Amino acid sequence: MANAPSEKCVELPYHCPVCGVKLAAEADTLRYDAACRGCRSLLWCRRRTVGDVVVLDVIPGRTPEHGEVARVAESLVRLGGPPRVVVDLSRFELISSAFVAALVVLNRATQRAKGKLVLCGMRRFVRDTFVRTKLDTVIEVSDDEETARASLQSAQLTSPSLAAANGPDPAQSPTSSAGL
Ligand SMILES: [Zn+2]
Repeated sequence: MANAPSEKCVELPYHCPVCGVKLAAEADTLRYDAACRGCRSLLWCRRRTVGDVVVLDVIPGRTPEHGEVARVAESLVRLGGPPRVVVDLSRFELISSAFVAALVVLNRATQRAKGKLVLCGMRRFVRDTFVRTKLDTVIEVSDDEETARASLQSAQLTSPSLAAANGPDPAQSPTSSAGL
């Protein structure tokens, strides 16, 4: 009885955020300078999927270059549908402005694909950085991954092709009818 399997204990596999290759067990001790065996990309984050939400677990220690962020963003779009992305920053004690800029790039790419990105797991100093730079008004922030996923699952996202068919997108009013 005491050993009843709980869903929370199920280990979700991690994948390379660029090529999608499943990362082996050593992913638990993954270093910022580890390379994917599939595509040779340096792994600045790893990907796991919960329902239709993609969780990016960011590995501190190195700031990804613009191209590296772009490659992850492209692969998120290739997964199909508007990307719903949680970025888990719980491994960060501090965050550099360069890394914040990388997150802004990722957020912009997600929005271009009509998706949504939510940050979670921020520790105190990381959150302070976001508040100070007012980026918490640009990118949605949740306390934990569960809240972030709930926010993404309830978000009304339109796939890029549908949005194009419906004419120009009123980007200034993202969730004006959410109350209903
Ligand atoms: Zn890869």
